[in-house]
Amino acid sequence: MKQFIYADNAATTRLDENAFEAMKPYLLAEYGNASQPYSFSRTAKKALNESRKNIAECIGATPEEIYFTSGGTESDNWAIKSSVLTEANRREIITSQIEHHAILRACEVAEQLGCRVQYLPVDSEGVVSSYALSDCISGDTRLVSVMMANNEIGTIQDIAALVEIAHAHGALFHTDAVQAVGHIPIDVRELGVDMLSASAHKFNGPKGIGFLYVKTGTPLPSYMSGGAQESGMRAGTENVASIVGMATALRNNVEAMEKTAEHLFELENRLLCLLRERQIPFTRNGSEKHIPGNISLSFDGKDGEALLHRLDLMGIYVSTGAACNSEDTQVSHVLQAIALPERLAKGTIRVSLGKDNTAEDVEKIAVALAKMHG
Ligand code: PLP
Repeated sequence: MKQFIYADNAATTRLDENAFEAMKPYLLAEYGNASQPYSFSRTAKKALNESRKNIAECIGATPEEIYFTSGGTESDNWAIKSSVLTEANRREIITSQIEHHAILRACEVAEQLGCRVQYLPVDSEGVVSSYALSDCISGDTRLVSVMMANNEIGTIQDIAALVEIAHAHGALFHTDAVQAVGHIPIDVRELGVDMLSASAHKFNGPKGIGFLYVKTGTPLPSYMSGGAQESGMRAGTENVASIVGMATALRNNVEAMEKTAEHLFELENRLLCLLRERQIPFTRNGSEKHIPGNISLSFDGKDGEALLHRLDLMGIYVSTGAACNSEDTQVSHVLQAIALPERLAKGTIRVSLGKDNTAEDVEKIAVALAKMHG
């Protein structure tokens, strides 16, 4: 029997068992360096090529447009910092106030290196408006980077509309799709994005591996200097086992996407119904258009940090906001950007359900929250 309830799937997910099985041969038997020319490396090389093809198919790209990285943080840093190195006469980046710190901190570095960065506001649901982008974009804008889905509140942006505005001004468009890939349908051609970041551990793949999609013809300097791997764009011996695990997990998630989403929306509704039945007053943050299972709940006058620890003692794992930020006790920048009153912001937890969660799990979460309101 399960001893605990894991409800922090926006922070990371459990490795898919098929992905684990697919990885094993490349750790134990087929451990050759995929870039070596001899026959022992052939299987690893083939697995690398197949994984690239598989991943590309899952997002509507071509294999040559997929560059493997160490995860979402690296992909985001690459996309943002490349703006500093290219086109000296276009030195402006536009991003949003609710981006993950992988984007925000990279933007700070870009600012230190002479770029101007503008941060778009969002509405109370966390939506970036096309009008706000139209108002501040100009011929100086080199890159617009807006996340596809927010990690704290789950809000999904209208990326295609924002891309249209960026392109009309000759700017490139990057999206941090770390919370979206493997969870909602994505077709890079339909969206029109020039770059897209993804991370395997958010879609039941292994940790420490991800990719950056770069549309053919997009001017992008190499990020990691060294060997000639990844067409000379990202040096470093390929992490074949993790890449195979990532491709397997993504394929599995994409194939089950519709069913998983249905299951998660049902669980979400169940949890909210139970809270209402038990007359626990709460505010749900975010938008109707959100990542399945991402539930940001604010309890007026409560302390989110204390709720997290009390739930922890009951074997229930949730987050107070951004996982990478749990050391930081300040009100999250995302909750500030949606102008959530401080009393609510401080009493916020994120329950992020995944495909392994059950109706019994959400019932236990509701019972536990009721105890904290007794
Ligand atoms: N971007 C978003 C939206 C995220 O949620 C995360 C992880 O929490 C990252 C980037 C960083 O990804 P990684 O953990 O693969 O470095």
